[in-house]
Amino acid sequence: MALFEDTRITYADKSNKDLIRAYFLFRIISNPIVAKILTSLLKLANNLYLPIKGIVKATIYKQFCGGTSIEKSQTTIDKLWNSQIGTILNFSAESKATEADFRHTEAEIIATIKKASNSKKIPFAVFKPTAITSFSLLEKISKKQTLSKIEQEENDKFDQRINKICKTAFELKVPIFIDAEESWIQNAIDEKVTEMMKKFNKEKAWVYNTIQLYRNDRLAYIKQLLNEAKRNNYFIGLKLVRGAYHEQEIARAERFNYPCPVHRKKEDTDKDFDLAQSFCVENIDYISFCSATHNEKSATYLTDLIQENNLDKKDKRIIFSQLLGMSDNISYHLAKQGFYIAKYVPYGPVKDVIPYLIRRAAENTSIAGQMNRELSNIIKERKRRKKA
Ligand SMILES: Cc1cc2nc3c(=O)[nH]c(=O)nc-3n(C[C@H](O)[C@H](O)[C@H](O)COP(=O)(O)OP(=O)(O)OC[C@H]3O[C@@H](n4cnc5c(N)ncnc54)[C@H](O)[C@@H]3O)c2cc1C
Repeated sequence: MALFEDTRITYADKSNKDLIRAYFLFRIISNPIVAKILTSLLKLANNLYLPIKGIVKATIYKQFCGGTSIEKSQTTIDKLWNSQIGTILNFSAESKATEADFRHTEAEIIATIKKASNSKKIPFAVFKPTAITSFSLLEKISKKQTLSKIEQEENDKFDQRINKICKTAFELKVPIFIDAEESWIQNAIDEKVTEMMKKFNKEKAWVYNTIQLYRNDRLAYIKQLLNEAKRNNYFIGLKLVRGAYHEQEIARAERFNYPCPVHRKKEDTDKDFDLAQSFCVENIDYISFCSATHNEKSATYLTDLIQENNLDKKDKRIIFSQLLGMSDNISYHLAKQGFYIAKYVPYGPVKDVIPYLIRRAAENTSIAGQMNRELSNIIKERKRRKKA
């Protein structure tokens, strides 16, 4: 695809050492057997508290993470900004489940909002609902089951937390994404986030829900959201993604014998993703959105829609986003052409971010086409540099 092909642009700020590291990482990740063995070893070493921090930090962490703290991510933030790419700081300490963990994560999210409010290089904040409350609570609310007294208290705390985070974002004028998770906890998330949109999106979209287009009910859901927003006079914020839990969704639906909530064919997900993008552009006066994808066709499709509809490339209502360390060909080319774009930049202590990195490796292994693209782009650039 001509739009993203020039590797000089893709790797403008990468040294030869960066390219060699990325090459070996993507080689490993793209081989399912090697990736499985290495991620199992990584999990084991992490659980046994073996001294692997140094090697992880110099390799996979360096590729996919910004730094161990907000301050330590500044070099990454500045480097991206030199190429006109914003940063979305994503505190990625996963598998946290105690009240103290949730409190700590809440404080960290608030700190990212404050940081964003003082820097034009950080256009959005983000958080994942299960980082501030328990999975089991969200599951129970989603099933509309009666909560015990303790669960009710937990739910009240979750309400307070999500309110405080969204209110801070609103007051400091930092739009905020709320990530989407498994379908069996998503109803609870959708309800709370819609409540937050109603409350804080009266003048423009500050709170954004995430829509997973691998789900077969999401186009209808967006249409219903729009009707509701028009009736109640608020704006909608959406982050469009394909969805990260495809295999788990199918496995669970089969195990418990209920209708599968996700598409079974990749082309159906692709079609819905692009239909959602055009629906959002058609309704841009009500919907602000983020196209969060590594798919070149979908990114190109949106650039065409923006231009056909005579929208400004830097219109703040439409932002593109990719993950740090991935699909730089899309990010750097779109930025060079003047589109509004930011990378998700995960950060956090090395040990805490390891589960995120393992997930990244597992997810990438299943996207063989994308891994081949990363590898062939790096090889092309290495050859070009050797000749130059
Ligand atoms: C900035 C950013 C934020 C994100 N936030 C979230 C989030 O909040 N929640 C979340 O769930 N994910 C999130 N993701 C991950 C996202 O959902 C995708 O898993 C990932 O981006 C890969 O999809 P893609 O659009 O890049 O492109 P592609 O590589 O073209 O698509 C791969 C995706 O297609 C779908 N798919 C694969 N096989 C099939 C099949 N047989 N039938 C139907 N569909 C299939 C799956 O969703 C798979 O992930 C985010 C991604 C980015 C870049």
